Amino acid sequence: ASPIHHVFDPITYWVSQDPTRVALRFEEESWTWQQLSDRVRRNAAAQSALGLAPGDRVAFLDKNHPASLETTLACAVAGTVNAVLNYRLAPSELAYVINDSRAELLILGAEFVDVIDTIKPNLDHVRTIIVLGGEADEYEAWLGKAPPRETAHPTHPEDCFLQLYTSGTTGHPKGAMLTHRSVGAHSIAASAAFGFARDSVNMVAMPLFHVGGTSWALAAMSQGAETVLVREVVPAMVLDQIIRQSVTHAFFVPAVIRFFLQVPGVSALDFRSLRCLGYGGSPMPEALLREAMSTFDVDFYQVYGMTEASGVFCVLGPQHHRDSARPERLRAAGQPIEGVEVRVVDPAFGDEVPVGEVGEFQIRGPQVMTGYWQRESDTAASFDGEWFKTGDAGRRDPDGFYYVEDRVKDVIISGGENIYPAEVERVVSEFPGVAEVAVIGVPDDKWGEAVRAVVVADSGTDIDEDKLLDFCAAHLAGYKRPRTVDIVPSLPRNATGKILKRDLRAPHWAGRSRSV
Ligand code: ATP
Ligand code: MG
Repeated sequence: ASPIHHVFDPITYWVSQDPTRVALRFEEESWTWQQLSDRVRRNAAAQSALGLAPGDRVAFLDKNHPASLETTLACAVAGTVNAVLNYRLAPSELAYVINDSRAELLILGAEFVDVIDTIKPNLDHVRTIIVLGGEADEYEAWLGKAPPRETAHPTHPEDCFLQLYTSGTTGHPKGAMLTHRSVGAHSIAASAAFGFARDSVNMVAMPLFHVGGTSWALAAMSQGAETVLVREVVPAMVLDQIIRQSVTHAFFVPAVIRFFLQVPGVSALDFRSLRCLGYGGSPMPEALLREAMSTFDVDFYQVYGMTEASGVFCVLGPQHHRDSARPERLRAAGQPIEGVEVRVVDPAFGDEVPVGEVGEFQIRGPQVMTGYWQRESDTAASFDGEWFKTGDAGRRDPDGFYYVEDRVKDVIISGGENIYPAEVERVVSEFPGVAEVAVIGVPDDKWGEAVRAVVVADSGTDIDEDKLLDFCAAHLAGYKRPRTVDIVPSLPRNATGKILKRDLRAPHWAGRSRSV
């Protein structure tokens, strides 16, 4: 496939091929390629009419809505940048991210007007707010005012048009600057990996403020696929929509797959149209994957990616899910997609570790971001030359499959030994009555750090802490065993549902510093 120099070029191409074919569906409405292109170019012209110049930031805040994709593509056309905001953030977090983005224009879903009202005095750069939806749909009126822009701003491939924030699992969310080059390369490589084509019907159900929403959507669109956009995941409705609209491709995070399996009658549903069921974005428990595979008779694709990579960069294809000779492959995140190189590096010394040993994954290739918006020192610290340091610890097997073990920052060092919490968590979670577990390192005068298991019990179950520790002792090497257990009602999670280990660690480390 030829490279994409400007992310609006594929849209123009599909207008030339199929102007009246449906490009996008949302709830009861649909738009053809011609209509989509017109709306994007109107949005771009309307941005310029507001005085936005190339490089200026726009912020978008709503649940999934076609206007989010339109604004992202319009920013590409106008030379501006769309910062898509996480609508699940608390008001103070939203204020932080909006200010961090320096957005001058805010396109705001009617549902979120009240939230923004509470923080409006704290917003430093926003000059104009356009309300989307609701009675007076200002967004529609705004689009109606401007004739569609004819030609796109002459863009350099390194120009940013999309700024997506990392989930904030290991620190503050950071704005990853994604460019025509990075998103274009991702679209080509992801399309080859998942088989997006003109006859695909691609469901976009994950939030557009993550790469799993917006980049997944743009990749399929680049190949002329039809997009079925879902406002918000309601499990039974999403499953029904897959069948009714003959969806061929869809991507969900593991937590959503878990919800699907609880939908009554799910195993009797006919998902024949689905050619690619992608899952990932956070670790997939093996038991959940096996249950999903026995419920859905479709091709599964593991998706390993991150914001800074413009989306997915390793995929475990369906043939490796069915390889009964290599059942351990189900624990692999997969193999690098086209154009991506992965190396495994000792985080302390920066040299590559031997095959099979755990180190930090570093990636190189055209789909890597240019840097974090206005965070030069974070950017500098996360690159080693052209190699981006993912912050994930894992290993490569002799056949070139990559296995994610844990976050580098969560690795526990006790008596000089590295302990990967995920391994301990797998054992603890097998103990009867354990619903959820997070394993962290707490200060220990003798060993530096000691292992602590923070456990949520199944409702109505009492967990005997001593028996749990004995169970761990029987299944784990001595230095990996939890020394203490903490039974809690729930685990702290960020807006994406990822467990915030830094919050679990904080009270133990007050006044002390942790080496990683
Ligand atoms: P922050 O960078 O702000 O701490 P984050 O890393 O959670 O937050 P994202 O870019 O949304 O932000 O998530 C990427 C991370 O998600 C990866 O670095 C990895 O740890 C995890 N992840 C993604 N896909 C998978 C997968 N298939 N298996 C295991 N982990 C995954
Ligand atoms: Mg990250």
